[in-house]
Amino acid sequence: MSDVELVLRSANVVTPDGPRAASVSVADGRIVAVGPYDAPEPDGARVEDLGDDVLLPGLVDTHVHVNDPGRTAWEGFGSATRAAAAGGVTTLVDMPLNSVPPTTTVPALEVKRAVARRSAHVDIGFWGGAVPGNTQELRPLHDAGVLGFKAFLLPSGVDEFPPLAPDQLRTALREIAGFGGLLIVHAEDARLIDGAPPPTGPRYADFLASRPRAAEHEAIAGLIALARELHARELDARVHVLHLSSAAALPLIADARRQGVRITVETCPHFLTLTAEEVPDGATEFKCCPPIREAANQDALWAGLAAGEIDCVVSDHSPCTADLKVGDFGRAWGGISSLQLGLPAVWTAARRRGHTLHDVARWMSTGPAALVGLDHKGAIEAGRDADFAVLAPDETFTVDPAALHHRNQVTAYAGRTLYGVVRSTWLRGRKIADHGTPTEPTGRLLERQPRA
Ligand SMILES: [Zn+2]
Repeated sequence: MSDVELVLRSANVVTPDGPRAASVSVADGRIVAVGPYDAPEPDGARVEDLGDDVLLPGLVDTHVHVNDPGRTAWEGFGSATRAAAAGGVTTLVDMPLNSVPPTTTVPALEVKRAVARRSAHVDIGFWGGAVPGNTQELRPLHDAGVLGFKAFLLPSGVDEFPPLAPDQLRTALREIAGFGGLLIVHAEDARLIDGAPPPTGPRYADFLASRPRAAEHEAIAGLIALARELHARELDARVHVLHLSSAAALPLIADARRQGVRITVETCPHFLTLTAEEVPDGATEFKCCPPIREAANQDALWAGLAAGEIDCVVSDHSPCTADLKVGDFGRAWGGISSLQLGLPAVWTAARRRGHTLHDVARWMSTGPAALVGLDHKGAIEAGRDADFAVLAPDETFTVDPAALHHRNQVTAYAGRTLYGVVRSTWLRGRKIADHGTPTEPTGRLLERQPRA
């Protein structure tokens, strides 16, 4: 064992077994021991006593639209990873769309990697994309290290990333299952959305009516049926439902799981903390697809989290420039910026509902790391990377958009008072953000790890 370089002590270390007073020893960027709080200090190690501040595993945000290259006015690897570091996120996984090129071929992946490498303040993994006509690209992308493949069932919002028709979805999933990959899906049904009244004007209620819950249920039911069909043909199809908004779909997913279908599901901070009732008309910073629904639905999402029916909570950070967030819900870009705010936003709501930071760590770090097979991330235990977020859980702050590191300061959380101040963030044993200020870019590019 190499020499311990760093010891972090806290009265509140969130380990997989729960929080406890402990000292965490780090060597070569990895956690080598989680010992008693007052364990003797190894010779030559730097020791930081965090007092009552909580030591959490660094967050793993598997749903981030970095938009780089191509739409760097919206975000970029430098700004996104600075925001991530400031917010306690130590690993992010970049979505394959909104950048140009989209990540639908190996050369496009390499273009992204070349850009990302230059300014990564946190570790970065990549999703590939499944679009019409790129079935032949999926295996090479998998071999090149993407963590899985995203598909849409209806227009994505950008022309260069078209949706899959049902037969194309089947073809893609068959191909992906053939090499043991993961398909992640924006689950809203095109036909039901087409049949709903189109969103126009500034009223949030009209926008909500344009994205009915049934569209989510229909798409998820179709996905489950397809996974079952392939399973019956000995193909090990794994599917993941992105950004679940309608809690009414949870029983469907839970039933499928009980019957052996390999399906997982995520939800997002905005669905857990914001409600349709409170969205002012014209406030398109709250627009996302699927949409933020009513308070009763939010309660049911929390019940799903408590019951273990939802695997992870990830940001779906999808920013744009301010001019695209006009007051008309039909015309505005759909996406909510929250990369830097996910931890305090979720913690504020979680504590009010009687949940602990142990729960939050499971939803925002351990769960997402497991989803993408990054077994060296997502928990404070020996052998994993020394990635941490240090949180003052009882301190509050008011969200000032100008203080965010996102490239654009439009956010639905502006002016909200949140619990949980991120004091510092650590990546492989090095401090990458201190009191909200990112330090040096020491992030690495991550590749899919072979599954055990
Ligand atoms: Zn997204």
